[in-house]
Amino acid sequence: MIATALLAAAACGAGQLATGTGTVQAAPRSDARDGGSAPGASPTGLSEWPYAGLSQMWSKASQALLAPMIAAAEEARGHPVDCRRAKCVALTFDDGPGRYTDALLKQLAAYRARATFFVVGQNAAAYPWILRRTAAAGHEIGNHTWSHPDLTRLSAAGVRSQLARADQAIKAATGIVPRIIRPPYGALNAAVRMQSSRPMVMWSVDTLDWRFRDSAKVARKAVRSVRPGSIILFHDIHPTTVRAMPWVLKSLSKRGYKFVTVSQLFGGATPRLAYSGGGPGIL
Ligand SMILES: [Zn+2]
Repeated sequence: MIATALLAAAACGAGQLATGTGTVQAAPRSDARDGGSAPGASPTGLSEWPYAGLSQMWSKASQALLAPMIAAAEEARGHPVDCRRAKCVALTFDDGPGRYTDALLKQLAAYRARATFFVVGQNAAAYPWILRRTAAAGHEIGNHTWSHPDLTRLSAAGVRSQLARADQAIKAATGIVPRIIRPPYGALNAAVRMQSSRPMVMWSVDTLDWRFRDSAKVARKAVRSVRPGSIILFHDIHPTTVRAMPWVLKSLSKRGYKFVTVSQLFGGATPRLAYSGGGPGIL
């Protein structure tokens, strides 16, 4: 199992190369749509009010309110699935958010599918509004570090910093701190594991979408390899992957699969290290 994860790890790395140049550049356009209601624009002259820190206070207060709202939305949208009885599959999308994530969210919504997004902190900071929509739609957000390094090559402090910076960016966007981590490249050793008590989540099916860049191949790989309890690895930074998803969702739905988050798949258990094979497993 570990060998599988490590072999598959190269996938993540190649995917990230594309991310680095592609998604972060769009940052200046960020948040204009739903975070842009700056009090300074008010015709009532509120910007001149003596409490200069008011807007910051409000920002913090609204953030504090956001977390329970997202949690409530998750509950309301949730259709409880017992993965011990149902055929469950966890679709996971790494390295975003990016410019194709919105299209993916629409496809998932069409099938009432929930998925897990292991996001890179610097992309979360670049596309906070997309991450907010992702969380509000009931998907799970995981920590995929700040800048996607091989954590086994970092000092303990370096690992903690990578995780903490990503946590901060995700919390700033969504109000929540991820409960699960996926190390870039699947690169993991005892020293890295010691730096967090949160589960480190790998995968059991690697679509190699970063290599193929071919929607039909990616879909075939996912559909043919899936088993009840599978965790399938995709990267939503590739348009070919996003275009493959309607086929994946349709085929697996027909075969009776329920699309759940990683945490749902493990039924609330908190494994230290999570893989998935023939069924949910804890190592
Ligand atoms: Zn990755």
